[in-house]
Amino acid sequence: MIQDALEISQEMKEAKRYFIDRTWYEQNNLDFDEVVRARFCESCRAKLGTETEERVPVFDKKTGRASFEFRRVPYGANPVRTIRDCCSRKKGFIAPDMPALEAVFRIYLANGNQPMPLEHVREQLLEWCPAGGCQWLMLPVEVLERLVASDNYYGIRPHALPVAA
Ligand SMILES: [Zn+2]
Repeated sequence: MIQDALEISQEMKEAKRYFIDRTWYEQNNLDFDEVVRARFCESCRAKLGTETEERVPVFDKKTGRASFEFRRVPYGANPVRTIRDCCSRKKGFIAPDMPALEAVFRIYLANGNQPMPLEHVREQLLEWCPAGGCQWLMLPVEVLERLVASDNYYGIRPHALPVAA
């Protein structure tokens, strides 16, 4: 974890990071979770409406130890996690004929909406198009950046840098 944080702070100096901004959805009266669930794979979509067991950490104040407890939750209650852990690993999650912003949006979902620069998004898109030639891969980062800046559908926004302590 500490290693991750260090790497991220290194990156911040180099490139502007983006993420999917939940508050943008709220401001526009859109249901973020619904939009994300619409990207579920077939088997996850079939499980909607059912319940699942989720492991949740619980902290025991007396012993000072953390343990886990199982809780029943509706399937897909945390849709970003479902996509990260399942749907984004399936073939066809990102397809060559998708619009570029849709592909970018899905890369953020596949990473659990971790803020990252568009350069990294592009590197990951490469994995979805090993032969090259996909329309979203042909775009230089500057063009991708302009597309994201003009986006008023996906809520992809620059991630504010934390104030230095
Ligand atoms: Zn799935």
